[in-house]
Amino acid sequence: MATLAEKPIDFTRLAHPSPASDEKRGAILADPGFGSAFSDHMVTIEWSDDRGWHDATIGPYGPIMIDPATAVLHYAQEIFEGLKAYRQADGGIALFRPEANASRFNSSARRLAMPEMPQDIFVESVRQLVLADREWFPTVEGGSLYLRPFMFASEVFLGVRPSKHYKYMVIASPAGNYFKSGAPAVSIWVSKYSRAAPGGTGAAKCGGNYAASLVPQAEAIKRGHDQVVFLDAEQHKWIEELGGMNLYFVFEDGTLLTPQLTGTILPGITRDSLLTLAREEGLTVREERYSIDQWTADAKSGKLVECFACGTAAVVTPIGHVAGHDVDFTIGSGGPGQLTGRLKDKLVAIQRGTAADSHGWVTKID
Ligand SMILES: *Cc1c(COP(=O)(O)O)cnc(C)c1O
Repeated sequence: MATLAEKPIDFTRLAHPSPASDEKRGAILADPGFGSAFSDHMVTIEWSDDRGWHDATIGPYGPIMIDPATAVLHYAQEIFEGLKAYRQADGGIALFRPEANASRFNSSARRLAMPEMPQDIFVESVRQLVLADREWFPTVEGGSLYLRPFMFASEVFLGVRPSKHYKYMVIASPAGNYFKSGAPAVSIWVSKYSRAAPGGTGAAKCGGNYAASLVPQAEAIKRGHDQVVFLDAEQHKWIEELGGMNLYFVFEDGTLLTPQLTGTILPGITRDSLLTLAREEGLTVREERYSIDQWTADAKSGKLVECFACGTAAVVTPIGHVAGHDVDFTIGSGGPGQLTGRLKDKLVAIQRGTAADSHGWVTKID
């Protein structure tokens, strides 16, 4: 188990003058959905070129006022993270690999010409918010408290250069179980649009990547599918990922494959964790390129038996059907696969403290 260093920065604490009533909070926590309800507090930390990180506050959740000329509104200099706090089997609270989120936040910051945030401040900011809003854990099975740290260019300036002021914030949202047991596998649409190009920002977790994925995602929905899958921008041949989840393929010989990180794929922490868990089980996992033609052929021949997407929000989502302008095929039975379910259960058990954490992934905060 990872331990936390001494509190690295002093947070000014402002209690909420009128937090949600027990009744209102209770209703939200019984049916939280995803991303639409927020807890009582939020974290704010400022950065300026002359003072560095300063003015750390944990105060009431609420709107922030920004000038119309604030740089982020014009040039999208913004990055974010997504992680969850889990209620443990023993009643405690834990974070899952928050250092990995801190590290990825900083690599995103470097790519977007933004200041890095010391890992201990990042983890402490998340910890403070969870402890302040510990009454905000969903009461539904499989629920968690989703945490969204983000940073944006807050300088009031329309010139095109890196901002001299940034605002870092963390908000928390109670989240239900995305993957109710027995959930059907999803259908995905192979897009002709590209998500990320070589040399671009595909490996950074920035809002701009998502803005570019909305038209393709809407197209997938319009055509009757649930999600979009992107191929590489150069050859339009190699499978990359979904709009916000990485991919795994499971073959009949029991081996797995996940597309290798080429710089245009977001390095998911769920992807990385599953890689470790699968290898630990003695499974062979290849990180390689995999083409859309091979995917089609392997699904049709039966060589490919399962396929799933993975990410923090939904954990693991089985993929049953794939369609595009020139392809249309079903994977396995078209339903959730066995190995997919086993790997998901294993990861969830570690996150919720019902299985031993032999990798130092779990940080208990309460
Ligand atoms: C966040 C994200 C993922 C998943 O990353 P996790 O760390 O597993 O949550 C995958 N793809 C994209 C584009 C993402 O933004």
